[in-house]
Amino acid sequence: MRALAVYPNKEVLYAASLLGEAAALAVGDSEVQAAAGASTIYRVRGDPRDLGLRAGAVAQLAKEFDAVVMPSTKSAKTLGGYVAQLIGASFLVDVIALGVEGGAVAAQRYVFGNKAVAAARAKPPVVLTIAPGKFTGEPPKGEGKVVDISPQPLPLPRPASVEPKASGGVRLEDAELIVSVGRGFKRKEDLALAFDLAKALNAQVGCSRPIAADLKWLSEDHWVGLSGHKVKPKLYLAIGISGQPQHIAGILDSRIIAAINSDPNAPIFQYADYGVVEDLYKIVPILIKKLSELKR
Ligand SMILES: Cc1cc2nc3c(=O)[nH]c(=O)nc-3n(C[C@H](O)[C@H](O)[C@H](O)COP(=O)(O)OP(=O)(O)OC[C@H]3O[C@@H](n4cnc5c(N)ncnc54)[C@H](O)[C@@H]3O)c2cc1C
Repeated sequence: MRALAVYPNKEVLYAASLLGEAAALAVGDSEVQAAAGASTIYRVRGDPRDLGLRAGAVAQLAKEFDAVVMPSTKSAKTLGGYVAQLIGASFLVDVIALGVEGGAVAAQRYVFGNKAVAAARAKPPVVLTIAPGKFTGEPPKGEGKVVDISPQPLPLPRPASVEPKASGGVRLEDAELIVSVGRGFKRKEDLALAFDLAKALNAQVGCSRPIAADLKWLSEDHWVGLSGHKVKPKLYLAIGISGQPQHIAGILDSRIIAAINSDPNAPIFQYADYGVVEDLYKIVPILIKKLSELKR
């Protein structure tokens, strides 16, 4: 296979060399030095920050290569997604292991908040980004022949419109106590129970994804988990939350996890320091009453 290292550095070059011959694209002189060890260095004279220019260069060169390898930076991921759809390539991000199997690129990536590893096989062309610190082997020792190219810059996609995000004025990342609600709550109005409990505890209210993303009962700044906010309170009280891996990924730094769930087999109990197997509609009003009695 032939691989093209973009935003070249030692890790990107080493990863590209695991696929076969490793060439590099260098935009600007500093990248020519960083590409030392590549078989061929395709030099573009221009501003390394010009994403459109780099996209034009990758699109021009990509047809000569089986794979394009980049670091997992924000710019590289933006560029990678764009170029992959332009050339009809598979796009793999945050790859942690790489090789060739039966003419296909074989890659591994962390999934479910780094709790599992997924294996992927993709036929060329493939565009991929590598996770930092995973490709620390010896970079290739290619000739480094410099070839100048003058690609046409490509127009980058722009957002059609930008909407302000709905905010409930909550900063869960800083909260010391969180009362968090899940689909165990049957109606939006019932969340008043959780807000009353949170008030009694002086806590913030968090939620699982369905409550914010699907039902839209709370704004997204209440959303806890892998794709929501990662929290680290002294107490995380999960009410009517099943404890799926994507939710757990956001709460593991909590000092104490407590859970209320009517299902004794709910996965949340595997992570909870304290658990109550009970209908939330019975237990939460009792808790609120007890707390207000204690305050008197
Ligand atoms: C790519 C991806 C990213 C995701 N990211 C996130 C994320 O960031 N955060 C997140 O939360 N999820 C995320 N999810 C969704 C996740 O997989 C689960 O679907 C979600 O966490 C489930 O939410 P839940 O626990 O509220 O609902 P459910 O799984 O439906 O659980 C409801 C729980 O309530 C209990 N219950 C029902 N009635 C009562 C009652 N009366 N009293 C007490 N308990 C009761 C049930 O026993 C059940 O355990 C993601 C999924 C994907 C695919």
